[in-house]
Amino acid sequence: MTDKKIKILPDSVANKIAAGEVVQRPESVVKELLENSIDANSKNIHLYIKSAGKTLIQIIDDGDGMGPDDALACLERHATSKISSFDDLQNLASYGFRGEALSSIAAVSQLEIKTERRDDEIGASVVVDEGKAVLEKGSFAKGTSIAVKNLFYNTPARRNFLKSNTTELKHIIETFRKISLSHPEISFKLFNDDEIVFDYPQASLEERFKAVIADNIADSVIAVKEVTDYISLYGFIAKPTYLRKSKGEQYFFLNKRYVVSKILNHAVFSAYDDLLDKGDYPFFLLFMDIDPAKIDINVHPAKLEVKFEDEKDIYTFVHAVIKKALGSHDLVPSVTFQDTPGEKEKLDFTRFRNSGANDFTDRPSFAGAQEQPKRKGSIFSDEEIDLLFGNINKEIKQSAPAAAVEDPFAEKQFKEISSAEPALDSETTPFIISLHNKYILCQIKSGLMIIDQHVAHERILYEKAMNSFEADIPFSQQLLFSQTMNCDPADYQLLLELEPYLTKLGFDLKFFSKNTVVIDGVPQDVKLGSETYVLNEILDEYRKNYQEKKLEERDNLAKSFSCKAAIKAGDRMSEREMRVLVDQLFATSMPYVCPHGRPIIIKISLEEFDKKFGRT
Ligand code: ADP
Ligand code: MG
Repeated sequence: MTDKKIKILPDSVANKIAAGEVVQRPESVVKELLENSIDANSKNIHLYIKSAGKTLIQIIDDGDGMGPDDALACLERHATSKISSFDDLQNLASYGFRGEALSSIAAVSQLEIKTERRDDEIGASVVVDEGKAVLEKGSFAKGTSIAVKNLFYNTPARRNFLKSNTTELKHIIETFRKISLSHPEISFKLFNDDEIVFDYPQASLEERFKAVIADNIADSVIAVKEVTDYISLYGFIAKPTYLRKSKGEQYFFLNKRYVVSKILNHAVFSAYDDLLDKGDYPFFLLFMDIDPAKIDINVHPAKLEVKFEDEKDIYTFVHAVIKKALGSHDLVPSVTFQDTPGEKEKLDFTRFRNSGANDFTDRPSFAGAQEQPKRKGSIFSDEEIDLLFGNINKEIKQSAPAAAVEDPFAEKQFKEISSAEPALDSETTPFIISLHNKYILCQIKSGLMIIDQHVAHERILYEKAMNSFEADIPFSQQLLFSQTMNCDPADYQLLLELEPYLTKLGFDLKFFSKNTVVIDGVPQDVKLGSETYVLNEILDEYRKNYQEKKLEERDNLAKSFSCKAAIKAGDRMSEREMRVLVDQLFATSMPYVCPHGRPIIIKISLEEFDKKFGRT
């Protein structure tokens, strides 16, 4: 009798155990088979599923195929054609490299391979049952067919763990879609119980994206593309104004491999910074291509995780590229006049949609005409014409009297001016006017731009505030007469806590006993006479933001300040003020969306007007 207790497990047992790692459910088989077909340079890949993969998962591809010897060898554990040394991992260009998938799958299913190489006369069929492989040579279709039947037939515990067909099929489809997204140059078809459910022809990335993710989301995304020698990032990200509907759809592919990476996700999300509320996750579909030597995907057999050599650099790169894409993109929503609201609406700008068809209640009111000062000769006063036509019209006004507006030729003149007009520019904007002291209207090349004065100012002040936290010298206007504020203990305490930041913003506060605070100076943007009121409002808003959104201290204070110090809807602005506001707005990093994610600007194109007036 020997006392040696340790023995090497027979392959059939080892494979079954290994299978537990690689094959958790039908979806894992789908992933391994699809990846193998892609690695084999296939152009067309068909996937057949029966009973959610429980009875059949079959792949048919037109790739490289295998010779008879390989058709047998591929079923051995650690049998791979993709690497031959550990160093090869440094240059890995394939999905596979472990040589574990087929051996594992074969250990827990009945497997059939039919394969033939492109230039061969003879191919092979291999049938595996109960761990035994039987090879037959013969003539087969070029490429490879692998059928995985009755998954887990010999491991009943695993089989019992499988979820309902609906759930398992959902997982399969999710993986199928992800992989299809990563290879638009390959045509993919999915057949479920003999019915074709997905048919993606060879396409560009954008076309594939539309086919897989859905057409309508394509209008709500910004294309990203940054290519360098060392690293490239491309794909699509959600416009900030399209956040709500996109929850839960984030796809990151690293060298065409779908990965889940907290670091990469954070780099993307944080680029949206104040455009996102807590809990908002923007859609994205991003591809990063990088030298394989710089990453390690050898972390887990399912290979979803990834380790980077220069984590920080990658983070900075992704963050910067996304930030740039967000900032440089024309994020102004175009508004269309709709006769049937709700129909065919792609973006959720309900607020800005024409509220109803033919709404005759919103028209110029002539009721109070008598009270208005009598005009001389013209419908418009000189002042109004000045506003309407702006600076560049000064010359025209010199040669033609103001009354020319009534002249039939005036329309032509107006047209010439406007079509000669380039982009929005404070020097040459032909008109800038206020609508009900709430919206600023100005002409742009493509039509009309409408700016919400309050949110525009809010955006400007928010960025100013955030910058002032970093700066050393606060810009403060000293008050001639100091204001005394008697606050409740809670406010007093909060003011004390926020004092360092408030000082940076430009507040000059002195704290006395009995909850008394004296305001000696305020930021330049605070209207004189409203110091105490504004400060109180800021505190209220700060508290609300803290409780509801758990905003970080500085972000919160900047948001509260900008919201409360900004020009309100209803505040009258002079033409000059409006021009300065528009200028400053476009100097911010994000002129299109306010700190809360509301649009600041919308535009209505000339075509839209033409359509409405029946000119087309
Ligand atoms: P790995 O992909 O890690 O190499 P697998 O067990 O998935 O390991 O596959 C083993 C080998 O079988 C591969 O290296 C490849 O040579 C071959 N193979 C698998 N699937 C196909 C296919 N669809 N077409 C051609 N060869 C294939
Ligand atoms: Mg493989």
